[in-house]
Amino acid sequence: MVEDNYKQRGLRNKLVKKLRLKGIRDERVLEAIGKVPRHVFFDDALLVHAYEDKAFPIGEGQTISQPYTVAFQTEKLNVAPGDKVLEIGTGSGYQACILLEMGAKLYTIEYNRTLFERTRDFLPLLGYKPYFAHGDGSKGMPSKAPFDKIIVTAGAPVVPAALTDQLSEGGILVIPVGDRERQKMLKITKRGGKLIEEAFDYFAFVPLKGKEGWG
Ligand code: SAM
Repeated sequence: MVEDNYKQRGLRNKLVKKLRLKGIRDERVLEAIGKVPRHVFFDDALLVHAYEDKAFPIGEGQTISQPYTVAFQTEKLNVAPGDKVLEIGTGSGYQACILLEMGAKLYTIEYNRTLFERTRDFLPLLGYKPYFAHGDGSKGMPSKAPFDKIIVTAGAPVVPAALTDQLSEGGILVIPVGDRERQKMLKITKRGGKLIEEAFDYFAFVPLKGKEGWG
């Protein structure tokens, strides 16, 4: 059983207020952030930072994304209960918990074997049970496609065609695209077989590896 006391709940409420001030409007996203215990993804040495609006190391050279980034991407994804969602870059599993709280039917894929095994074993202990896969998510998950929504939580050099191919009609892909230092957040909607692209702010993600990533 993972401890979640009044102090941690209080810090989470403060974080939700901060995200609201930063422009996050979707109440369902804010509610999910208010529910998922972020501190359980932190080592003891970093525990005091769990509810700061910052990214932190999770080992293997990877990070748990900044809460604002998680909220921004999730808001753009427009998740409805029952949506079939693919997450590329399971990492700590925090983003996965947010999507599950919002009622997504979640498939999540991680490239790094250590992180994949750690998160696959840990998340069910919190009551979160997505479908976990280990592999190169830059190719999507063809065996489970199509998806209503796809979220990429690592920075890509280009929009992988495999991902737009695996979107259902009306589906949305949210993906940071750019160079290794910074990436523009893109929202791509498939309508009548066409891809409609909207571009938002710059973010700084760890690189997307694999065939359609940085290699
Ligand atoms: N969603 C994560 C979370 O909530 O903690 C954020 C994780 S971190 C910013 C990005 C993750 O993407 C890393 O765990 C990294 O190993 C993973 N990754 C990078 N390239 C990948 C690929 N081609 N397929 C799947 N995962 C990948």
